[in-house]
Amino acid sequence: MSPELGSGRPLLSLPEVSTVTTLRQRNRALVLKQVILAQETTRATIAQDSGLSTASAGNLVAELISAGLVEERGSVSSRGGRPITLIGPRAESAITIGADVGERGVALEMFDLSMNRIDREFRGGAEEEDPERIGADIHEALVALRDRNADRWPTLLGIGLGLPGVVETAADGSQMLYAQSLGWPPVPVRDLCDVGRVPVLAENGAKMQARAELWFGNARGADHVLVPLLGRGVGLGIVTAGQVTFGSRSSAGEWGHMVIERGGRVCRCGNRGCVEAYLGSDAMLSAWQESGGVFEGTGWRAIGALIAASHAGDPAASAIVDDVIDCLGAALGGMVNLTGPERIVIGGWVGLRLMESLGDRITAAIKKHSLSRSGDQFQLLVAKFGGDAVATGSALLPLEALIAADPMSERGAR
Ligand SMILES: [Zn+2]
Repeated sequence: MSPELGSGRPLLSLPEVSTVTTLRQRNRALVLKQVILAQETTRATIAQDSGLSTASAGNLVAELISAGLVEERGSVSSRGGRPITLIGPRAESAITIGADVGERGVALEMFDLSMNRIDREFRGGAEEEDPERIGADIHEALVALRDRNADRWPTLLGIGLGLPGVVETAADGSQMLYAQSLGWPPVPVRDLCDVGRVPVLAENGAKMQARAELWFGNARGADHVLVPLLGRGVGLGIVTAGQVTFGSRSSAGEWGHMVIERGGRVCRCGNRGCVEAYLGSDAMLSAWQESGGVFEGTGWRAIGALIAASHAGDPAASAIVDDVIDCLGAALGGMVNLTGPERIVIGGWVGLRLMESLGDRITAAIKKHSLSRSGDQFQLLVAKFGGDAVATGSALLPLEALIAADPMSERGAR
């Protein structure tokens, strides 16, 4: 990797997350997150939602304004007639980049502090790629983004990578990707993306989707949510007590490789009977092909054609769709029993396709495969974010790091 991406004037170096934070710093971080989540709010609302006194909330907002992260945006009149000042994130104060790293290419999206998407870049093609090629693709895409956004580049908070596998973080902060399903050897994340002083923060792609839905999508406001990602591969983000669950080594949520049929179909991971061997797009389409289905491509249109054929009464397509729904019901019904979610938010391009017309049947299948009490306690929704869910969630990681690390200690000096 050439070093030019990380050179230039010093960027925000995010302090260690383990830095001891004072109560004031934590409250400031809480207020910044509230402002970004709300996009437009008032000091009184912040005080009300955070439990802080009006005076404290006002002081913290003043500090964030002086740091350049928050701004006043005019005023509205209150019922008493007194004008109330609106505040929001100062969009131009920082940029963050999220990358959806797939086995067939990478999509990078750039956002401002208000999480408005301001640029995007894609690299890759239909062929399967290896880690080296993916690393080169990411680098090329970053160079293109930097060249188009040179004036804002010094405000880059960091780069989030949503990766197709288990991402482990060592005690020294270095990260490693284990993408067993793709047949890759363990890959150090810095081999995929190394841009000098700009922080690179990686996480499993399905967890990134869950993060996007939790912040700005259909998991927002809920504490216990399952966010399945159904695409070529199958993943899951488990939200517990408002946080994405990681387990001891961050592999929690590898639901795609939960065995649903002992000795069943061979899965890409090498095991047999995994959820992905039934619910991945390739599995669904090869089952259709074996029973005589004719379709174009392997993507969105092909899955749409399969579902349309089943609605039209085609017996082979109907049998496959019935099986997919039953399998999804069993795989999610087990998770309902295990985690007690209040919502299930189905995402990924295959998930969006299924939810276009089969939501009621999927709900019924999940209920059929879970205990009747817990099966009555969740709501099934389609993800708000489509193909951009992983990149959006990934871009939130540097933002979360900024919030967690107390922005004032860095920004105040600039
Ligand atoms: Zn598997």
